[in-house]
Amino acid sequence: MAKDYYQILGVEKKATKDEIKKAYKKLAKQYHPDLNKEADAEKKFKEVSEAYQVLSDEQKRSTYDQVGHDAFTRGGGNNAGAGFGGFGQGFGGFSGSDNFVDPFEIFEQFFGGGFGGGSRRSRRSQGQSLEARVDLTFDEAVHGTEKTLTYSRYDVCDVCSGSGAKEGTSAKTCATCNGQGRVRTQQSMLGAMFSSVADCPDCQGTGETIEDPCSNCRGTGRFQKQEDFTFKVPAGVDTGTRIRFSGRGSAGERSGVTGDLYVSFKVKPHKLFERKNQNIYLSVPVSYSQAALGDTITVPTIHGEESVDLPAGTQPGAQIKLSDKGVAYPNSKRMGDQIITVAIETPKKLSKEEKKLFEQLKALEKKPKKWWEKIIS
Ligand SMILES: [Zn+2]
Ligand SMILES: [Zn+2]
Repeated sequence: MAKDYYQILGVEKKATKDEIKKAYKKLAKQYHPDLNKEADAEKKFKEVSEAYQVLSDEQKRSTYDQVGHDAFTRGGGNNAGAGFGGFGQGFGGFSGSDNFVDPFEIFEQFFGGGFGGGSRRSRRSQGQSLEARVDLTFDEAVHGTEKTLTYSRYDVCDVCSGSGAKEGTSAKTCATCNGQGRVRTQQSMLGAMFSSVADCPDCQGTGETIEDPCSNCRGTGRFQKQEDFTFKVPAGVDTGTRIRFSGRGSAGERSGVTGDLYVSFKVKPHKLFERKNQNIYLSVPVSYSQAALGDTITVPTIHGEESVDLPAGTQPGAQIKLSDKGVAYPNSKRMGDQIITVAIETPKKLSKEEKKLFEQLKALEKKPKKWWEKIIS
């Protein structure tokens, strides 16, 4: 995932539009496959073009800056969500809480894979993948839950089954491009003639022409619909976890491959517990005498209350680990731990009796005035 559009163009993150354009022009010329015969020139050219396509558009650039590279690449998640591919099957009934998420229309143009897809089929034939973010409470993330996402996507037209042709008819091979979907064109750019491959103008790159389009989808083979999608959130997810639901994105035009749906989570903090990955941290106040004499204390965990033995002579800041009382690792039987940190509270107000006892104690302790002398002597 080292690929970064700014790096590809060799510009800084703060680069102006002009700087981006200049960098692109230079690199496009350098790597244009018609001019550069090196083996990876075409690959580089595509990378550069892809980077420019995003960074030259203010809106796309700002999305890229916020969401990062993953949002623009197909299935490229290198993050915590990578291990969750298998959750697509396990969803069941409905739950109460709804999250409405607009599909990021902007991604449509990218997930189509016009560049670098390696496919000879047109960019239109591939449906876009969608991204959604779902907010979870701390408890939902820790214990797992079910969520219903309402979003809109393209689905395969059920009248023509995605062919785009009217019932009883079928698409014909495009005569202009011989079904290839692409045509070579010559154009003058930056003072030189380039031949480039472009989508066939007669079939828009599909390689097929439809004489009688399906009236339901107007020949596209797909239609937009709003959908409720209920899925299981496994116990243990965290902010940034990303789950891929294969085939839950948009259908491509005319029976093209359907994209995926990526759901990532944002988890709200808890009032008491602090979570770091699968471990839970909790500060537990104990009194001076409890720490000195030892005690059995009750502490809350995310799985209920636990009895904990505080040893005599517990120091401030001492940590006690409650094994397996943390957060489950998703898709695994492993559990994190809860780690409690002992906070010794000094009483601010003393009753008469307490004061008397503390004074007796103080007299008994005979704390040397120059305590450091013993250390350095
Ligand atoms: Zn149709
Ligand atoms: Zn054509």
